[in-house]
Amino acid sequence: MPAGKTMAKHRNPVRKEMLHNRLSREQLLKQIAAEQPVPRRTLSFYRYLKIEEPQRLRDELYREWSAMGVRGRIYLAREGINAQLSVPVAEFENFRQNLESRPGFGAMRFNPGVEDDGNSFLKLTIKVKRYIVNDGLGDFELDETVAAPHLKPLEFNRALEEPGTIVVDMRNQYESEVGHFENAICPDVPTFREELPVVADMLQDKKNEKILIYCTGGIRCEKAGAYLRKRGYKNVYQLEGGVINYAHAVKQEHLPSKFKGKNFVFDERLGERITDDVLAHCHICGAKSDRQINCANEGCHVLMVQCEACGHRLGNCCSEECQRISLLPEAERRALRKADESLKNKTWFSKKIRDSSATRSNP
Ligand SMILES: [Zn+2]
Ligand SMILES: [Zn+2]
Repeated sequence: MPAGKTMAKHRNPVRKEMLHNRLSREQLLKQIAAEQPVPRRTLSFYRYLKIEEPQRLRDELYREWSAMGVRGRIYLAREGINAQLSVPVAEFENFRQNLESRPGFGAMRFNPGVEDDGNSFLKLTIKVKRYIVNDGLGDFELDETVAAPHLKPLEFNRALEEPGTIVVDMRNQYESEVGHFENAICPDVPTFREELPVVADMLQDKKNEKILIYCTGGIRCEKAGAYLRKRGYKNVYQLEGGVINYAHAVKQEHLPSKFKGKNFVFDERLGERITDDVLAHCHICGAKSDRQINCANEGCHVLMVQCEACGHRLGNCCSEECQRISLLPEAERRALRKADESLKNKTWFSKKIRDSSATRSNP
């Protein structure tokens, strides 16, 4: 691989074209994606392993994977790797060898994406983080002997049918609201950090019961399962590869899907439909809907469930106020965004919390 200088030169044309055509980075990337439709494979993988120099690995992966046209969002930490990405089909074997030839990265299990239109990610982002999952557990050591046993999708289905089995959704409220397993306990928490203590409290007198846990791709359950086992829950099992792998097995092995609705995923698509069931309701009018969008006012960007009719009426904004802002000229919008940093909320849930604390004096 050529040294950094040469690579920087290769990356420059993007910037040059942005400046030349006065395009935003986002516009340009969308344009590139539309112009060059290469078949891509969407996948995710993770592993807890010791990475001594995450920053050095980050730079290496960024250089090598950019050259292959890999796009996606990858987190690296001293505790491991968590990656969601899309790879041009023609480069897939190259990519696999590139990854698996690194010590500790052998025989990686890839979770497939279910519906891939090839535009799941627009660029490659690799970030070095303190932890690969923000689980609120601090430096909780993941020790192979305490991890909860994995169940394959078919085994998970069978365990669900056993009387007395408890199933817990380890994802956040905005994920489980549009899709979850039948009869699952879906804790009302905005982030995974808050989830574990809530779940442990809810299940306090169920230490001997069979508890099944699941999340999107399996990574959150690695630590959640270990955490619960350490707290004395004896029969905890985790869904191998999470809902993503389950959905894949439903299709490939023609299993009946006990997961209903949509699987929320963190990419441009937001959700992959697993069954036709619509579990959620429009946050504005209450009509049945599981259309998840981000408020079109980019200063707000709140994630919400909004029905088509409300979306039409509000221009895909969360409120008339945001709609008014979204129609202002760009310069005014930018000034407003600067003035109100607190508008940067990620979920409908956190926005409600902010709004209610702002008006706490009014009961
Ligand atoms: Zn509505
Ligand atoms: Zn808004």
